[in-house]
Amino acid sequence: MTEFAAPIDDILFSFRHVAEAHRVSDWDDALAADILGHFGQFAEGVLAPLNAIGDAQGARLVDGRVRMPDGFGAAYAQLAEGGWQGLRAPERFGGMEQSALVAAGVSEIFSGANHALQMVCNLVPGAIDTLLHFGTPEQQDAWIPRLASGEVLSTMCLTEAAAGSDLSAIRCKAVRHGDHWRLDGEKIFISGGDQDLSDGILHLVLARSGTMDDGLKGLSLFLCPAGESVSVTRIEEKLGLHASPTCQLAFSGAQAELIGAEGDGLRAMFTVMNHARLDVSLQGVAHAARAAQIATAYADDRVQGRRKDGSPARLSDHADVQRMLAEQAALAIGARAMCHVAFVELEEGSRPDLVSFLTPLCKLFASEAGIRAADVGIQVLGGYGYLNEYGIGQVWRDARITAIYEGANGIHERGIATRGLKGPGADLFADLIRELGSGSERVLADLSAWEDRRDHMRAAADAEALAHDFAQATARLFYLACWARCASVAAHHPEPDRITALAERVLSS
Ligand SMILES: Cc1cc2nc3c(=O)[nH]c(=O)nc-3n(C[C@H](O)[C@H](O)[C@H](O)COP(=O)(O)OP(=O)(O)OC[C@H]3O[C@@H](n4cnc5c(N)ncnc54)[C@H](O)[C@@H]3O)c2cc1C
Repeated sequence: MTEFAAPIDDILFSFRHVAEAHRVSDWDDALAADILGHFGQFAEGVLAPLNAIGDAQGARLVDGRVRMPDGFGAAYAQLAEGGWQGLRAPERFGGMEQSALVAAGVSEIFSGANHALQMVCNLVPGAIDTLLHFGTPEQQDAWIPRLASGEVLSTMCLTEAAAGSDLSAIRCKAVRHGDHWRLDGEKIFISGGDQDLSDGILHLVLARSGTMDDGLKGLSLFLCPAGESVSVTRIEEKLGLHASPTCQLAFSGAQAELIGAEGDGLRAMFTVMNHARLDVSLQGVAHAARAAQIATAYADDRVQGRRKDGSPARLSDHADVQRMLAEQAALAIGARAMCHVAFVELEEGSRPDLVSFLTPLCKLFASEAGIRAADVGIQVLGGYGYLNEYGIGQVWRDARITAIYEGANGIHERGIATRGLKGPGADLFADLIRELGSGSERVLADLSAWEDRRDHMRAAADAEALAHDFAQATARLFYLACWARCASVAAHHPEPDRITALAERVLSS
């Protein structure tokens, strides 16, 4: 199997030159390169070698507790020891207070090396953000240091059997008892709902403090530490991510604290959603990059067929294989650029409506890019792609969920085509495409066609029925514009000719 190599040069090129990370005040270029280099080594040496083991063994439920695969406990201890769980947490809580952009780079590398473990660990930054935004000083003091040190891992408990995409159907009940609350009900599909990596688990639970008639306004967010009154009733058998325990949890009078205002649970949850969704987008980028890595190494090695001069050919000598390898590489670099542009906008903070428009586009495009690149990778490897030996099948299986969780892609498409067109975000998007694609006639022509289509959508009687095609076209335009930007700054990449050639392919497709 091709060893995992963290794509540090590509990540830095993207942040520095495509997304212009220097626009964010806390971006320190040299420090970012240093941190990404260190984490890259850790990911290559410690996290990635466990990826196939985790896939083969899976997490298991033994006597009501989840057991993680061999080696995961030791790797987590090293991760926590290195301070990586507190990368973004404020220094006053024991964190490293690093920029969110650096954390995004680390998160992509983590996902490429071992998505299953990343999922269990990477709900922590969101939990810390939630506490910083909505927690009382006492809640912050009680939990942030323990989350940042790795003593405690966290979960996000939203989904129930009858409440998936539609959270207004949540039934898990919260009842006030003096100065605290008690939770009763069942949550399903909870990532890291139990594990044997950390000493404690903090569940963030969306539960009903009002009546069913209150709909979404009857939901509040609670902090609920794992304990006897929270039990794991099953873990799911899944297509991929075998090492990430997807748990059904029963809350039986579990003691909990309200976080934020009563009835404001969804807003509290969604405040950190832009970050969470961009994080899932980067999982897609990570899968696309890893799939490209595996396929390129294989195609450069395998001898099959003949060159035009009759000499033995490698797979990568064949035009059609070159096409597939280029598609994978372009998806990884282009989707990463989209995410980084959105991240820089989010952190820079002057165009929040633009961020809200870009975030679902990134989620949609990057998750599908990861799946597509893995699928193309299987094709490049031929029969060996269908076997387990080279690990490309695991990339595809692990990537597949990214189009479903953090809001199924169809729900995001609907949001882009309806809510997204009502505010100023869509017009700011057009400005951004002009900024990114100013040197590309192709992008400017596509933008003009898109603006007509946007106006048509705004007037459409049933925008939902047209949502898929419109959202896909919008995401594609963003991708093309990012490639136009990549082309214009290609000279800054360590392999400028490669970036220029990929850009020409994408922009002429
Ligand atoms: C591996 C894994 C990990 C997960 N981790 C977590 C976690 O940590 N915490 C958590 O709370 N949840 C988690 N989930 C749950 C996940 O977020 C849900 O599966 C997801 O929100 C979709 O809900 P659902 O599965 O009920 O699908 P449904 O809501 O039944 O949707 C099925 C399909 O129908 C479409 N659809 C549904 N409603 C509409 C509509 N109104 N309009 C148009 N299309 C619609 C959707 O787009 C989707 O394609 C996880 C799931 C998995 C598989």
